[in-house]
Amino acid sequence: MRADPGNGSRAVRITGYRSKAVGAAVALVNAVADGTDGPDALRALLRDHDFFWQDFDPAEAGAYRAWGRTLRAFFTAEDPEAAVALLNELMLATPMHPHLAAHGGFGLHLHYAPPSASLAERFRATTLMQLSELLCEHGLSRTGVCAADGCDRVYADASRAGRRRFCSEACANRTNVAAFRARRRGPAG
Ligand SMILES: [Zn+2]
Ligand SMILES: [Zn+2]
Repeated sequence: MRADPGNGSRAVRITGYRSKAVGAAVALVNAVADGTDGPDALRALLRDHDFFWQDFDPAEAGAYRAWGRTLRAFFTAEDPEAAVALLNELMLATPMHPHLAAHGGFGLHLHYAPPSASLAERFRATTLMQLSELLCEHGLSRTGVCAADGCDRVYADASRAGRRRFCSEACANRTNVAAFRARRRGPAG
């Protein structure tokens, strides 16, 4: 059986729609939207997505929250052109100094932030570059805002089929049940 790279196994994808950084961007945008963005939650979020190059500094919590609000615009972008404009603007404003690194069993890969960067700056650079790669490969077909009524959480589709529209199973089920009931009630209501 194929190991699921999304579950924290070593078969982690650095780039593409299964990238840990894309998942981290989604988790941060949703943590800010949910208000679950306290220092402990942010520390756990970073660790869960393999941002352990440096320790989380609670003094940077505000910088992560601001970045979560900024990145939301990527997931809500109306069309690829809007996403391109946003990412280009953000890349200009983010210190970058690409270099190769191999650590923690990940094999050779690119780091984008300057070696002296703080973890928050590193997080910014890496999420930006991975969302940019995603946009080049898949356009906006694998990211978006949850289709459930009243939910403004975002998602990135890491499935092979690529037909995801909801932030969670809970939202998918709730919407399916509502649609089923509406059909059963019929047009007479
Ligand atoms: Zn690395
Ligand atoms: Zn949802």
